[in-house]
Amino acid sequence: MMSQKKDVDDRFKQFGTVSFTSITKTNDFIDYLKDNKVMGTRCKDCGLSFFPPRADCHKCLASNMEWFEVSGKGKLVSYSKLQYAPIGFEKDVPYCIALLDYGDYKVFGRIAKDLTDEDIQVGMEMQTVVNELPSGQLNYVFVKA
Ligand SMILES: [Zn+2]
Repeated sequence: MMSQKKDVDDRFKQFGTVSFTSITKTNDFIDYLKDNKVMGTRCKDCGLSFFPPRADCHKCLASNMEWFEVSGKGKLVSYSKLQYAPIGFEKDVPYCIALLDYGDYKVFGRIAKDLTDEDIQVGMEMQTVVNELPSGQLNYVFVKA
């Protein structure tokens, strides 16, 4: 009989509407969200920053990482309004997915629902904030800086 590992670290299930990665070395990400912090990881050897957080640096092939907070303002590089959503996101449409450029790293995510089309302009400054979904799940959204 095969033994099953029961003590799986599945904190990532609490992230977002549908969780793609329920088991990851970067589970602390969820604990930080609960603390109202959006965090990425940075390689202590070469300084490369990663978002979403990674446990390993692809440049150094090392795992010498530290957490940093995604704070301050990022610039809206591009965005796209989704009218049709992948399975699991149907109830959320329409929403805008977007990319913010923080200089050292970029953050991919959603624009807050309360922003209208007129509010959103490429090049504008935005901030990444923790957001609680009606289900109690946590994610992050972009708001006007
Ligand atoms: Zn590195």
